[in-house]
Amino acid sequence: MPIRPICIVGEPVLHTPAQPVTEFGEALNQLVEDMFDTMDKAPGVGLAAPQIGENLRVFVYDYPDDEGNERRGVIVNPHLVLGPIRSGTPDWDTESEGCLSVPGERFPLIRAESVRITGVDLNQNPIEIEATGWFARIFQHEFDHLEGTLYIDRLVDEYKDEVAEIIREWGWGKPNLSWLPGKDNLEG
Ligand code: ZN
Repeated sequence: MPIRPICIVGEPVLHTPAQPVTEFGEALNQLVEDMFDTMDKAPGVGLAAPQIGENLRVFVYDYPDDEGNERRGVIVNPHLVLGPIRSGTPDWDTESEGCLSVPGERFPLIRAESVRITGVDLNQNPIEIEATGWFARIFQHEFDHLEGTLYIDRLVDEYKDEVAEIIREWGWGKPNLSWLPGKDNLEG
């Protein structure tokens, strides 16, 4: 079962801080393989374990960094340090995020322009990445998932109201809703 259903906003696991990974080995490796397959099929640029119903502090990503190098990987038990966050108004054209757990929607929010993320890989080797721009944004978005926070929780009031309306219209915002990449088409 490599491609797994993706939980939709309202599923409690998305709104609960995830637990640190303590067991490394075959089960974790399989989970992460499923996460890569599910992210690729969605398609998405990142996926956190709670999005497929697993309450664990691990996420995968696949996105070019600011130098244009393709970056693909997994981070377990991450720790995130944010650079400065500008003040002002979020920009629709350059700062709009989407989320596979709020499928088909995009809204802008201001994020830190740079981050330093540390954690471990599947073999418990240390990872340390300095990221800027959209690569840094993806780490912030995925790390938030592990804290039980969705990007829509961080929107300015005006957009929060719009999202609330969308959630009502789709009948989201309650448990047991998911979509399956490759089968359900929620982008259309
Ligand atoms: Zn997301």
